[in-house]
Amino acid sequence: MYEGPVQDLIDELGALPGVGPKSAQRIAFHLLATDAADINRLITALQQVAKGVRFCEICGNVAADTTCRICGDARRDPLLVCVVEEPKDVLAIERTREFKGRYHVLGGALDPLSGVGPDQLRIKELLGRIGRDEITEVIIATDPNTEGEATATYLVRMLRDFPGLSVTRLASGLPMGGDLEFADELTLGRAFTGRRAV
Ligand code: ZN
Repeated sequence: MYEGPVQDLIDELGALPGVGPKSAQRIAFHLLATDAADINRLITALQQVAKGVRFCEICGNVAADTTCRICGDARRDPLLVCVVEEPKDVLAIERTREFKGRYHVLGGALDPLSGVGPDQLRIKELLGRIGRDEITEVIIATDPNTEGEATATYLVRMLRDFPGLSVTRLASGLPMGGDLEFADELTLGRAFTGRRAV
């Protein structure tokens, strides 16, 4: 145990996901040796997040404005929408460079035991988009785990009745039980190009 503010900092850092006690200590001492200007940028970033983060009104992705960069990009194909669970999944798919359409972020996956039903996810918003905009294909890219599968099955049922809409899912080959973000770019890219109609 260190005394005072240093230990407070280590405790706070150690409470973050993926940061063990040793990493927390290393980061804390790194910060102690950092310029005041760099520390202030970190403080500002934390304060901005604490004030609240904005989400795109169209797709639900993290945004700096009312809509995100992808929804505002006229070069992106508005006919294709890829449905993912979290904003981090958008990043994972963007890294593959296989997808030139737009996204829809659900904000999680169906998990009845934790009280997450269809109303807790942005499913109504998705159905609204499909009814309103010209969308020809919805690609379901939920995580390859139990909750992600349940969510995909539910979405397929909800999307079946839209005339002329093709619904596809990523090809198998992604490591089961994990998160989309843990798949390497090549595997995820292949799953994307090999997507199949459901
Ligand atoms: Zn957006």
